[in-house]
Amino acid sequence: MFRWILGAAAALVVIAAVVVFGVLPVMVDADLNRVLEHEPYEISDAAQALHDEIPVADLHADTLLWMRDPVKRQSRGQTDLPRLIEGGVRLQVFTAVTKSPSGLNYETNDPGSDDITSLAIVQRWPPATWGSLYERAMYQAERLADIDSRYGDGFRMIRTRDDLMRTLEDDALAGVFGIEGGHPLEGEIDNLDGLYDAGLRVIGLQHFFDNALGGSLHGLSGAGLSEFGRAVVVRANEQEMIIDVAHSSEATVRDVLALSIRPVILSHTGLKGHCDSPRNVSDALMKEIAEAGGLIGVGFWDGAVCTPNVETIADAIIYAVDLLGTEHVALGSDFDGSVTTPLDASQLAALTQALMDAGLEDDAIRAVMGENAVRFFLENLPAE
Ligand SMILES: [Zn+2]
Repeated sequence: MFRWILGAAAALVVIAAVVVFGVLPVMVDADLNRVLEHEPYEISDAAQALHDEIPVADLHADTLLWMRDPVKRQSRGQTDLPRLIEGGVRLQVFTAVTKSPSGLNYETNDPGSDDITSLAIVQRWPPATWGSLYERAMYQAERLADIDSRYGDGFRMIRTRDDLMRTLEDDALAGVFGIEGGHPLEGEIDNLDGLYDAGLRVIGLQHFFDNALGGSLHGLSGAGLSEFGRAVVVRANEQEMIIDVAHSSEATVRDVLALSIRPVILSHTGLKGHCDSPRNVSDALMKEIAEAGGLIGVGFWDGAVCTPNVETIADAIIYAVDLLGTEHVALGSDFDGSVTTPLDASQLAALTQALMDAGLEDDAIRAVMGENAVRFFLENLPAE
């Protein structure tokens, strides 16, 4: 009898472990990163021919957060290398999420809680990542380097302008490593060097909450850059790291524009005048970012474009082109960023089609679908 109970208890533990470590992370991922059901997108020969000429580029995806192998085509989520390549993507920023408060919203978030801790545990990340945001960022950088080593010639994690140039010449896909918020620095400026050495080239300053660098667009304070945040901007400038003001408060963005000697990106957003969402900063501030040589990545989900379908994404892009000038507009999908999108990475030609249908000129379509971002990274990645 006693042995029978022990055996049953052991079986229950195994079943619980399979559910917690095997089934649960898959369910969470599949639920949070959905593609809306839609009829197959019809792509004209002219749109496909134009799309095939474009080095498509996207400024933001959170694929590294999830327990699936981006080397293989997956049936869940929105991005992996086979789907990116099928979609014509030649440059993709992969961003590390390291902390995410419970009850996430676009208005105000208290930094006291964090859902990434339990996600790291159920996804069986190394124990060092459970209590350290720095280790979470380092782990995701290692994941991207590992993807590079396993995929072969079709994908490279790039660190310099030359890397990008060579990758494009070889018709391969370039992956750039970024972080979503500067909290993995854990308040230590020298941690920027460790992350730089691990491949960090795009530094987002905030995510959904205020951090040691300054105020978030969805935080409690509405504050600008802190002294630490100012030191990070200066050091990032010295390292030729690209600064991303996505999720930063308007005060933080203005402080960065006044301080940074290099142009910045706002990697994933909508346009306030097109979609009046609390996720989007004012059109006036967008103009200031563009006037400082910056690049705006237009997103694909409801918080950015209000109604997520390819036509409204095209409308948002054209609104941005009219407001800011063609050369300042790019794509910022937020694929795998806990958003629902009308397409996955393999279906990006549908956006080229929608932009054509909306009357945007071919040269402008090439620019916003990829050439602007490629040019920006060729000018702003480290020269050496
Ligand atoms: Zn984001």
